[in-house]
Amino acid sequence: MAEGFRVLVTGGSGLVGKALERAVSDSEKCEGFKWIFLSSKDADLTSVEQTRLLFEKHKPTHVVHLAAMVGGLFRNLQYNLDFLIHNGPPHESNFGYSYAKRLLDVQNRAYFRQHGRRFTSIIPTNVFGPDDNFNIEEGHVLPGLVHKAYIAKRDGSPLVVWGTGKPRRQFIYSMDLARLIVWVLLKYEEVEPIILSVGEEDEVSIKDVAEAVAAGMDFHGEIVFDVTKSDGQYKKTASNAKLRKYLPDFSFTPFDQAVKETCEWFVKNYSCAR
Ligand code: GDP
Repeated sequence: MAEGFRVLVTGGSGLVGKALERAVSDSEKCEGFKWIFLSSKDADLTSVEQTRLLFEKHKPTHVVHLAAMVGGLFRNLQYNLDFLIHNGPPHESNFGYSYAKRLLDVQNRAYFRQHGRRFTSIIPTNVFGPDDNFNIEEGHVLPGLVHKAYIAKRDGSPLVVWGTGKPRRQFIYSMDLARLIVWVLLKYEEVEPIILSVGEEDEVSIKDVAEAVAAGMDFHGEIVFDVTKSDGQYKKTASNAKLRKYLPDFSFTPFDQAVKETCEWFVKNYSCAR
């Protein structure tokens, strides 16, 4: 059945793209597939012409569209205008990004209704893992704290967590997400989006995250909270009931282990990490 599948992956050099590349290279389910991983160097996807040429060249049967402009709370706060790609009230800290993602779903439904094309969107909660953007100012909380803990350990300084540490988030390891994306590609037939996340009971506070990162980095110094910095949205709990209905036995990598693997990857790749 997989014979003749040509899967084009945009955003192939990012956090999720790289995890997908690893996941498919050791998955028997993907034998017979041709995977084409693209990065922004290959084409400017905001250009219709360049995108058309790309499709003519690779003739994909499937597309995993991961390319996007992404960032953590602080980048979102600063660049809402840039994140907005449609004219169109999610949380005001990241309304640009949120509307863009919501409209993907609107677009998918319209394609199905008008042309019978089956596109769907996945909604992961906070993703982290190797190959993430570890830039402190612009990245998400987990890679940001990994980078800060590395510096704090090296310099004997405290690990500074932004905000109160009280907001709560669900995290998904990029390797788990990659396995789920392969499943969506092969088995999920709905146009309706699907949330790919650990359960609500696995939601953790930012303080818990800082402690997991400190343990993963073997950092034993002081952890302090800079409450002059924004907390952003307090929580955005997402249900994974739909995913669980399809895959009751899927096992997620334990959070502490995934954080440790991410810390180890960062230490090993410090000179070339983003
Ligand atoms: P969000 O989940 O979309 O809000 O984005 P983030 O991954 O940036 O998470 C933001 C939460 O982590 C907020 O509550 C921040 O105050 C908190 N936080 C603590 N330290 C950091 C940090 O070093 N970087 C970032 N991005 N957020 C941090």
